[in-house]
Amino acid sequence: MTDENTADQNGFAKLGISGQLLKATLAAGFTEPKPIQEQAIPAQLEGRDVLGIAQTGSGKTAAFALPILSKIIALGTKRRPKTARALILAPTRELAVQIEETIRVLAKGAHVSTALVLGGVSRFSQVKKIGPGVDFLIATPGRLTDLVREKDVILSETTWLVLDEADRMLDMGFINDVRRIAKATHPARQTALFSATMPNEIADLAKGLLRDPVRVEVAPQGTTAAEIVQGVVFARTKQKRQVLSNMLADEAMRSVIVFARTKHGADRVTKDLERDGFEAAVIHGNKSQNARQKALNGFRDGSVRILVATDIAARGIDVPGISHVVNFDLPDEAESYVHRIGRTGRNGADGVAITLVNPSENSKLRQVERIIRMKLPIIADHLGSPDPQREPRQPANDQPAGERTGRGPRRDGADKPRFDGKPSGKRPFTGKPKGERKPEGAKPFRARRRPGGRSKQARAA
Ligand code: AMP
Repeated sequence: MTDENTADQNGFAKLGISGQLLKATLAAGFTEPKPIQEQAIPAQLEGRDVLGIAQTGSGKTAAFALPILSKIIALGTKRRPKTARALILAPTRELAVQIEETIRVLAKGAHVSTALVLGGVSRFSQVKKIGPGVDFLIATPGRLTDLVREKDVILSETTWLVLDEADRMLDMGFINDVRRIAKATHPARQTALFSATMPNEIADLAKGLLRDPVRVEVAPQGTTAAEIVQGVVFARTKQKRQVLSNMLADEAMRSVIVFARTKHGADRVTKDLERDGFEAAVIHGNKSQNARQKALNGFRDGSVRILVATDIAARGIDVPGISHVVNFDLPDEAESYVHRIGRTGRNGADGVAITLVNPSENSKLRQVERIIRMKLPIIADHLGSPDPQREPRQPANDQPAGERTGRGPRRDGADKPRFDGKPSGKRPFTGKPKGERKPEGAKPFRARRRPGGRSKQARAA
């Protein structure tokens, strides 16, 4: 069978993707469309706006990129200086870089130009790249706001706008930048908004920006993937380092993200792991773009087994094959738990999420359990005596974990698998997150001198 024939029978062809774009899609290993793609691609090809409720990992990048690529390729190469035909807004640098990579892969063989506009790196090369005009501009809202205000980027000809991870942009204080940017684009644009959750502010934003959108949804709000086995390990703060090192001695933990709540905490965990003989990379908002990318690349290509990350830095990162997520501490916002553990168990693979909980984190644990609508099974309890604030519960697994002090796996294999088994606690569930926040007052482009409306993390993005 020829390539053409194979392509003709491809599920993407049935959705309306054709020619070189279809070939590149197949070459990227996308043999059949994912549900979000099945729903969103035909609607966008018809010119409809889309409201997508989907998490990273669902295949949403190709879901919005393929229809835009299809239309841009048909238009030819004429571009006006400093303009972008399509604008993709993403909350973090890492996600923006990842989106650009996906677009480049899908656009292989076509004359499609892309540019990135991100905070934290020199704006000179970004401005230069946009100079002649580009097809796709992928940007974080903060830096783009600055470049638009300084007239280095003109958005009036932008006829495709995508807001990716809109809820995260809200969390990071970008919402007013997003509104201002959207207002500066072409009034007859086509818009797609993707969000993992739909708090009121995002629903309002969608109402203002989308015209009669097709709503596509691939997973109920706030649910965690059914394939993820979850559990808690009770340990005092000062015990956590040892517990973590003992866990990581298990080689079944092939590829692990360890989440820390703060940048300082992430650095400390990384240093402790290194002192305990592990090689670990770290990403957080204070790291330079290059350092973050280097850490991610090492983790992605498997040369680094352990990546320590803060919530913001890790959000949107798509690294296939992460076997374990460890929450060194619970996030401030319970909803982040869902995002954290969503890093594993991707594409139907099994994943394990372990949360270390000290007694002062009990109320956070209860909030998480409310959101995910299940009680997390106890894998091990190192507290010595039961915490009076918590109802006594039976350990889900009668083999206690994290008690051994040695670093390597036991030769007799008796401790295998410790955290990667499939305990009976595995069951799907649904839950609705909260996540609502107060919007900040909108200001016009001209009036803003500094990025005062953005959170600290947002300014770094
Ligand atoms: P995303 O949600 O866009 O970050 O995509 C998640 C992962 O799924 C990425 O690694 C993509 O390369 C991959 N992916 C997206 N669509 C498909 C598809 N149709 N078939 C196989 N893999 C896909």
